[in-house]
Amino acid sequence: MRPIFDSHLDLAWNALSFNRDLTLSVEEIRAREEGLGDEPGRGRNTLTFVELRKAMTPVCVATVLARSGPRQQRKEVSKRSDLDFSSQTIAYAAAQGQLAYYRLMEKLGHVRMIRMARELKSHWDAWLKDQHKTPLGFILSMEGADPIVSVDQLREWWDAGLRAIGLAHYGVGQYAHGTATDGPLSEAGVKLLKEMEKLGMIYDVTHSSDISMAQCWMCLGEACWRRITIVEAWCRGIDSLRMSRSRS
Ligand SMILES: [Zn+2]
Repeated sequence: MRPIFDSHLDLAWNALSFNRDLTLSVEEIRAREEGLGDEPGRGRNTLTFVELRKAMTPVCVATVLARSGPRQQRKEVSKRSDLDFSSQTIAYAAAQGQLAYYRLMEKLGHVRMIRMARELKSHWDAWLKDQHKTPLGFILSMEGADPIVSVDQLREWWDAGLRAIGLAHYGVGQYAHGTATDGPLSEAGVKLLKEMEKLGMIYDVTHSSDISMAQCWMCLGEACWRRITIVEAWCRGIDSLRMSRSRS
């Protein structure tokens, strides 16, 4: 079995908002959720720390996520899993709660935060040497930047270990337009992007609208263009590999 690098897992959201103890097995959680009807996915969860170990996943990108966009629609029902908060300060606190979960899991030996490239290499090697005792490595990412209440606060998040940010999630965020919308970065979004570049933070474009993403390429410097070219070449490589496989 080959080791897997999983590039996106909402682990803390699963724990805090779906009340899932990720130190248990999938079967145990499914049994606990039997009969619960608050979410369509109840009793059908797919992973925990235990399963990630079985699946040979030394490292994943783990998220914090909370939204507080400027165009929120009133909801009839408020659910524990809701991601929309009525102010950025509350979204900040929700994301900090998720971070607190990762921190405690790290203290208890289930996960290990990876902050630097050299830590990634040493963790990967340690995990391959002793996968039963080495914790799950994770790189912290924020899905939608609304919990960053101002550009000045970015450094605090960096110091807490945050290494990647998607400026928007679903809908219109404070910094950019996200999935199912289209529009530019806000003024604060351009500023945040420039500060991210200074710190060396990764910009995750997954949920960015086409216009926000195009504007991001225009804002960032030459280093970013080089990285995009590499990613593009890599994607084309995957594509041609797929083509040759489908032909064979
Ligand atoms: Zn996610």
